[in-house]
Amino acid sequence: APTTTRRAAAPPLGSDRAAMRSLRVAVIGAGAAGLATARELCREGHAPVIFERSGGVGGTWIYEPREDGGHSSLYESLRTNLPREVMGFLDFPFAAAPDSLDTRRFPRHEEVLRYLQEFARRFDLHGLVRFGTEVTAVDVLQDRHHWRVRWRKAAGGGGTDADAARTGEDEEEQEESYDAVVVCNGHYTEPRIADIPGVDAWPGKQMHSHSYRVPDPFRDQVVVIIGAKNSGGDISRDIAGVAREVHMANRASPAATCERLPGYHNLWLHSMVERADADGSVVFRDGTSVRADVIMHCTGYKYSFPFLAGETVSVHDNRIHPLYKHVFVPRLAPSLAFIGLPFKVIPFPLVQLQASWVAGALSGRIQLPSEEEMMEDVRALYSQLEAIGWPVRYTHCLKHDQFDYDDWLAEQCGHAKVEGWRRQMYDAASKKKVECPETYRDEWDDHHLLEQANQDFQKYH
Ligand code: FAD
Repeated sequence: APTTTRRAAAPPLGSDRAAMRSLRVAVIGAGAAGLATARELCREGHAPVIFERSGGVGGTWIYEPREDGGHSSLYESLRTNLPREVMGFLDFPFAAAPDSLDTRRFPRHEEVLRYLQEFARRFDLHGLVRFGTEVTAVDVLQDRHHWRVRWRKAAGGGGTDADAARTGEDEEEQEESYDAVVVCNGHYTEPRIADIPGVDAWPGKQMHSHSYRVPDPFRDQVVVIIGAKNSGGDISRDIAGVAREVHMANRASPAATCERLPGYHNLWLHSMVERADADGSVVFRDGTSVRADVIMHCTGYKYSFPFLAGETVSVHDNRIHPLYKHVFVPRLAPSLAFIGLPFKVIPFPLVQLQASWVAGALSGRIQLPSEEEMMEDVRALYSQLEAIGWPVRYTHCLKHDQFDYDDWLAEQCGHAKVEGWRRQMYDAASKKKVECPETYRDEWDDHHLLEQANQDFQKYH
């Protein structure tokens, strides 16, 4: 999606610090976005408090073996889909370390969690987190500059005894006032389900990849996987090792598609599902059908902000409205901000730059445009998306211009641009993933970029 070219004037770094505001800021979530935000807020002289409903830092990267009730959408075998050098924060390399759990370039999920825990340790962030606290409501006060944050002990959130002593009785709601709120609650928790005609009468089991953990329950079964992107592709291959048949349905494939994937005797790629029937069959647009035991929706997730009043932002067809540059609600800027909403991006560097922009805007070091100008920018973006036929649901998809967006943020913050090797390595890995989906994690040919990355990382040792 294109971004508009309007530039906010950023006062130079090092401008009169005494004139800068230092605010008490509520950060919702201690995943990668919340941790990066807290660090940038501290660097800018603010006082953040992080509310985290679980018992640890790392968000998505805390694997939960139970299928039910968990917040994380990780499956047991998950390895990153980006090389670690690309994935890490800009000034905290995600390099293999003596305490690494997996030194590979595309490591397993435990290694990402270790990295985020190390980030929190290095920048002293643990002390800012209130573990086991779930934010239930966030309201702006009439002056539009203060916020009331309500929270309660989260069920099974794993708060410590000290937390319990501080917060009193478990179920009681507490409330506090803050100068600003930064929402970092993630967007891979609330499943989006494909609409399949006839599925209500179809007798099999339906589930979402959110609840998928291990292949074993699918032994000898016939499984239809809806979606062939990262999760759909990985999970299909994971399950094919034990299932009788796996049939992947891909909306983007031509209608006649029906092919067995090379190297598998039981894994098929089809065009989209046309309908499901009461006799247990699932019919594909390519005209074939299978008797299936399970339909698994690997169809992505919805944005959800259950703690925000309805009039703060609206979410329609996956578009959050109105948001200036995917971060600020113009009417409430800068005291309400969202970090980490764009998708099809490299998340950690992007959230770092967004967080730095927000921290600077809150202190007054970085000037935002007026409310009207920001709204005009939002409308201009929508018009551009419409003109190129980009669906509304991809408003926050930055597949084609994440690096322009990163550069724009970097310029606002006075930060260096994202490194050239990182872009090239990302492009190379993306290409390789399409060409060699089976092997891209273990075979690569970007040795010259790897060398540049490792050289760059020396700066941060
Ligand atoms: P999250 O990690 O989801 O953190 C949000 C936090 O907010 C959670 O800890 C949650 O408990 C907390 N929270 C939510 N609501 C509340 C509330 N009301 N009160 C208090 N706390 C709350 N990215 C990559 O870079 N590389 C990959 O290979 C990769 N693979 C992925 C694979 C899968 C299956 C998924 C789902 C995502 C993957 N991602 C990957 C993207 C990943 O989501 C990001 O890397 C990153 O973890 C997003 O961080 P976040 O902080 O925005 O959200």
